[in-house]
Amino acid sequence: MKIGFVGVGNMGGPMARNLLKAGHTVAAFDLSKASVDAVVADGATAAASAVAAVDGADVVVTMLPAGEHVASVYLGDDGLIARSGTGALLIDCSTIDVETARTVAAAAGEAGREMLDAPVSGGVGGAEGGTLTFMVGGSEEAFSRGKPLFDVMGKTVVHAGPSGNGQVAKCCNNMLLGISMVALGEAFTLAERLGLDAQTLFDISSKSSGMNWAMMNHLPVAGPVPTSAANRDFKPGFATDMMLKDLRLAQKAAIAGGVSTPLGAEAAALYAMFSNAGNGGLDYSAIIKMIAGKG
Ligand code: NAD
Repeated sequence: MKIGFVGVGNMGGPMARNLLKAGHTVAAFDLSKASVDAVVADGATAAASAVAAVDGADVVVTMLPAGEHVASVYLGDDGLIARSGTGALLIDCSTIDVETARTVAAAAGEAGREMLDAPVSGGVGGAEGGTLTFMVGGSEEAFSRGKPLFDVMGKTVVHAGPSGNGQVAKCCNNMLLGISMVALGEAFTLAERLGLDAQTLFDISSKSSGMNWAMMNHLPVAGPVPTSAANRDFKPGFATDMMLKDLRLAQKAAIAGGVSTPLGAEAAALYAMFSNAGNGGLDYSAIIKMIAGKG
C-alpha cells in the first residue's frame, strides 16, 4: 500500500520503518528534517509537506504530539481531509483528547473519508519491535481496512467502538496506571518507614489482593522487578510528563462528560507538582520520591 506518514518522531519513525519492512511504500513528512532523514535512510521518500505526503496515498497515518497538532494538520482547506484522495483511509495514532478526535473524525465523515483514532501503548520499544497495542475507534469497515497495517506495527489490536473510543480507552487505562503508581508509592513508602523491606512486601503483595500490573512490571523501588525504572535511577521508560499529559486528557474528558474522578484528579495534581519540581523527564514511577519526601 501507498502510505502517507505525517509525524515520524520517536514513535512515528519506528512505526513507519515497520511498514517499510512489510513492503509498503511510505512518503514521510515531519517538521523536523532530521526525523524525516532517519526514515528516508530506511527506504521512505521525503515529502515537502503534509499535503504532499498524502498525495495519492491509500492510507494516511499521523503520529503527532497533541490534539491541536492533529486538528491543524487534518482540518481546513489545506488539511489532510480536504487534500487526501476520496478513497483514502485516515488513521491518527496520536494520543489526544476525545473531543478533538471526534471532531476531526466527523469532519472526515462529512468529506466522505473514513477515519480511525488509533492511539497506542507500548512506548518506543513497542514501536521499534512492532509490538504496540492499538485501541481503535471508528466504523467496523474502516477498522477492517486498517487492521492489516495495525498488525504490522503492533501485536494487540482492539476495536473499541465508534470514533473517539480509542482515545477513551487510552485515557481511562492510563488514569488507572497513574493512580496505581501513586498507590504503590504510598504503600512501599509506608512499609519502609514501619520497618518492612520492599522485597518482603513485594513477595507478599504480589501474591495477595494488592497485586496489580504496575507492581509486577514497574515497581517504584529497585530490586524485586528487573523491568523497573527504579533499577536505573528512574530513566524512562514512560516519562512523568507523558503520564501527566494522559492524566490531563482523562480529566478533560471527565469534566466534559460530567463524571467525577477524584482519584484521577489527585493523580494529575501530584504528577503536575512532581513535573513542576523539574522531574518531568524522569520515569513516572519516580513519583515515589515525592511521596517519600525525597524529591
Ligand atoms: P515526538 O515529539 O518524538 O514526535 C512527534 C513528531 O511530530 C515530531 O517529530 C514533530 O516534529 C512532529 N510534528 C509536530 N507537529 C507537526 C506538524 N504540524 N506536521 C508534521 N510534523 C509535526 O513524540 P512521540 O514520542 O513520537 O509521541 C507521538 C504521540 O504518541 C504523542 O501523542 C504521544 O502522547 C503518543 N505516545 C507516545 C509514547 C512514547 O512512549 N513516546 C507512547 C504512547 C503514545
